[in-house]
Amino acid sequence: MWVMRMQYISTRNPDLRLQASQVIAQGISQEGGLFVPEKLPLVGEKLPLWLHMDYRGLAKEIFQLFLTDFSPEEIGHCVEAAYVPAKFEGEAPVKLVPLTNSGAACYLLELWHGPTCAFKDMALQILPHFLTKALQKSAQGQEAVILVATSGDTGKAALEGFRDVPGTRLLVFYPRDGVSPLQKRQMATQEGKNVGVCAIEGNFDDAQTSVKGIFTDCGMQQELKKRGMQFSSANSINWGRLLPQIVYYIYSYLELHRSGKLLSWEEPVNIVVPTGNFGNILAAYYARCMGLPVKKFICASNRNKVLSDFIRTGVYDRRREFFATSSPSMDILISSNLERLLYALSGGDSAALANWMGQLAKQGWYDIGPAMKGRVQSLFYGGFCGESGTSQAIREAWEQEGYLCDPHTAVALDVYGQYEKDTGDNSTPAIIASTASPYKFAGSVLGALGPLATQDEFENLHRLEELTHTQAPRQLSALRDKEIRFQDVVSKDATATYVRRALGLG
Ligand SMILES: *Cc1c(COP(=O)(O)O)cnc(C)c1O
Repeated sequence: MWVMRMQYISTRNPDLRLQASQVIAQGISQEGGLFVPEKLPLVGEKLPLWLHMDYRGLAKEIFQLFLTDFSPEEIGHCVEAAYVPAKFEGEAPVKLVPLTNSGAACYLLELWHGPTCAFKDMALQILPHFLTKALQKSAQGQEAVILVATSGDTGKAALEGFRDVPGTRLLVFYPRDGVSPLQKRQMATQEGKNVGVCAIEGNFDDAQTSVKGIFTDCGMQQELKKRGMQFSSANSINWGRLLPQIVYYIYSYLELHRSGKLLSWEEPVNIVVPTGNFGNILAAYYARCMGLPVKKFICASNRNKVLSDFIRTGVYDRRREFFATSSPSMDILISSNLERLLYALSGGDSAALANWMGQLAKQGWYDIGPAMKGRVQSLFYGGFCGESGTSQAIREAWEQEGYLCDPHTAVALDVYGQYEKDTGDNSTPAIIASTASPYKFAGSVLGALGPLATQDEFENLHRLEELTHTQAPRQLSALRDKEIRFQDVVSKDATATYVRRALGLG
C-alpha cells in the first residue's frame, strides 16, 4: 500500500516541513512554536472496519497514519512493548465504566491502570520507544537529554517510561510545594541510572517556563551537540505525547458500539476532560477532526480557571492569583497546547499565533476576538469547580454511584453536571476522562468522604481501603519501603545551572 508521507509544520513558522521522527526527536520548534500535522487523516469511514480490533491493533492503525517515516514493523514493536498486560493490568490498557444513576448515558474512561496510576502512562510508556527510533533516523543516534517540567503526574510517568532506556537521560523538575505527598514520594524514590529529579522553589508555570528557556538556549544546544547529545521533550508539547492519546477516544467510541450503546456511525458523543495543559482534550479534538462524531468538548478546570474563563470570554489572561489545589496536575495558568487548537481554528494563521503568544509572554494576556471566540464556543464548553465542589463531587460519586474517583476526575464530573443543567443536553452519551487513581490522592479523597485525613499518606491509603472496601494499587502501597534517592531543591533561576552540573557541562 502506498501511504502519503505526513508532513509536520510549526504553529509559528509556515515554512518548516518536517517528518514525524524529526518532530518527535526535537520536541519543540526552534522559534518556540509547536509542531502539528499539516493535514489530519480522515478515518470516519474506517470506524466500522476497526470495530473488532483490540487496543493494540487499533493503536498500530492510527500510528501508521501519522508516523509515516516509521515502518509498520517499527510501530508494531513500539506498541507491543508499551501496552502489555504486565504494565497495564488487563487485556486493554483502558477501561470504560458506565455510571448508572445519571440522566444521559455516562461512561468513565479510566486511563490510570498503568505503572504510575495516572493517564500520563498512556503516552509515556510508548514515547521512549518512539523517541529512540526517531533519534536513530533523524539524529544519527545522538543521546537524548529529556527535560521535564511536571505538576506531578508527568514527572513520574516519564521517569518510569525512560528509566534505563539506552541513549536517553532524563531530568525532572517539579514545584516543591505543588504536588501531592504520594506524587513527591513516587518521584523521590525513582530507580534508574539515567534519571534525576529536582524540586523548584516556585509553581508549575515557573518550572515550565525555565525548562522551555533551557530548550531554546542556543549556547547550551551547541555545547550538547559537541558532546553527542541533544535536547528533547517529554511534555505534552511533544507530538509524540499527543498522538497516543487520540487512540483511546476512538477506542472508547468503538467500545460503545461493541456493547450496543450507540445506534449509528453518525451518533455523536460528548467528551468531558479535566484539563490543565490542554493536551488530553486536544487529542480528543484531533480525533473529531479525523471524523469521530463528537458534539461538544467539555473542558473542566479547577480553581485555576484560566481556560474556562477563556472559553467564555475569548480573553486568555494569566495575570491572576495561582492556587494550589487538591487536583495539582491541573494547577496551571499557561496551557501550552491551546496554541495548537487556536492554530487549527484560525485556519493555520501562524502570524496571528506568533502575535498572541508574544503578547502572552510580554503582557500576560491576549484576546482572540469575536470570530475566533465563536469558533471556540461552537465546539467547547468551559466550566470550573472549586475545592468544596471537588470534595462534594467525590462524595456524591461514591454515595450515589459507588464510584470512587480522584479529585481531577471529580472536577470533570462536577463540570459535566453544570453542562447538563446549563444546556439541557441530557440525551447525548458522554465519555468522561477518569485521569488518575483515587489512591494517588488518598488524603484528599478520604477527607471528602468524611473521615479526617492524617499526616501520614500511607495511613490514609490504608484507611481509604478499609472505608471503601477497595484496594490501593500495589505500586503505591509499595512506595513506603523504597529508598529516597532525590532530595535536591533549587531556586527557579538556578535550573540551568542544575542541568549543566547534571550533564557534566561544567
Ligand atoms: C495531567 C493531568 C491532567 C491534565 O491533563 P492535560 O493534558 O494537562 O490537560 C488531568 N488529570 C490528571 C490526573 C493529570 O495527571
